[in-house]
Amino acid sequence: MKKTFQIDENGYYGPYGGAYIPEILHKCVEELRENYLPIMESESFKEEFNLLLNDYAGRPSPLYFAPRLSERYGCRIYLKREDLNHTGAHKINNTIGQILIAQRMGKRRIIAETGAGQHGVATATVCAMKNMECIVYMGKTDVERQYTNVQKMRMLGAEVRPVTSGNMTLKDATNEAIRDWCCHPSDTHYIIGSTVGPHPYPDIVARLQSVISKEIRGQILEKEGRDYPDYLIACVGGGSNAAGTVYDYIDDDRVKIVLAEAGGEGITSGRSAATIQLGRVGIIHGSRTLVMQNEDGQIEEPYSISAGLDYPGIGPIHANMAQEKRARVLAINDDEALKAAFELTRLEGIIPALESAHALGALPKIKFKPNDVVVLTVSGRGDKDIETYIRHMS
Ligand SMILES: *Cc1c(COP(=O)(O)O)cnc(C)c1O
Repeated sequence: MKKTFQIDENGYYGPYGGAYIPEILHKCVEELRENYLPIMESESFKEEFNLLLNDYAGRPSPLYFAPRLSERYGCRIYLKREDLNHTGAHKINNTIGQILIAQRMGKRRIIAETGAGQHGVATATVCAMKNMECIVYMGKTDVERQYTNVQKMRMLGAEVRPVTSGNMTLKDATNEAIRDWCCHPSDTHYIIGSTVGPHPYPDIVARLQSVISKEIRGQILEKEGRDYPDYLIACVGGGSNAAGTVYDYIDDDRVKIVLAEAGGEGITSGRSAATIQLGRVGIIHGSRTLVMQNEDGQIEEPYSISAGLDYPGIGPIHANMAQEKRARVLAINDDEALKAAFELTRLEGIIPALESAHALGALPKIKFKPNDVVVLTVSGRGDKDIETYIRHMS
């Protein structure tokens, strides 16, 4: 049998994944596991999901041939423009899908975790649209440094609960959301923001984001006369935009996959978020995956200039793709990402999110041939990062 990088029937990608959860959560996770595929494969779900992706989020997102960027790197570069979606990133694909799943499971209350606030805003947005109660857990440190997103969530009607445990950042907010779910198992759906957490979450999020690669297939066929690129490049925090970008091509070995993780100040600097390169096997938020941890197995706080990439774990899909050498993983440091963001802005008139700038920062590290067709996902727009860009403008 041909090797597959898709999930197996037990919720694993090779040795990674699974559902390592406390007894008290067993019932909700099991309920979700039993229901997600029948719901997602139903006609009513597909119809409403597609309608909302198109008319609410603004899909399909364009696949833009970037002529000046292509010239710079000596190949044919296309940008998958997730930055043009409603709320400014790919995250809305996932939150639209999950609110529809929650509705069909009869849930009335939505909880979410957020770090930089992007997933919190995307969740609060769909909760407003569907008139659902929305509680967003956010580390107190993040609440203080992400003022605008906190205010957006409040304006959208969500309650933002600052979390004061641990380092008061994303990992702690996730713990708190899981704790909430334990206390309200019957009426609450937990909308996780990336391809992380216990099975079936990584599979749910990857499937919902797979619209990205489905669109790429049709768009690249139209533009290049073949339905696959030579390279797919995406940044990875938890891994959802990357999973969506590669989903349809994961078992197609004509397509090379490059994942850009956040090197921070350098992978040996002690200030990094390069989980795949620095992590060791462990369990985080219910999933067996690579985790940044110290000798005692305590989770180490990751660092990146980009708030969306500093998660101390990584999706089990990506851990497996990296281990099996299906994907090449590059750590892109803060300075390289900044340089790439300014370069895209000046060459193509597109200000990318700092996260997406890490994917762009991979371009100078790859040796392309002139006929190589490259699709790089611009996961989000740079508006939220404008203060950081201003600080680094020369
Ligand atoms: C949240 C975010 C990311 C990182 O999340 P993934 O799940 O790894 O995709 C990347 N880019 C943008 C713009 C984001 O908002």
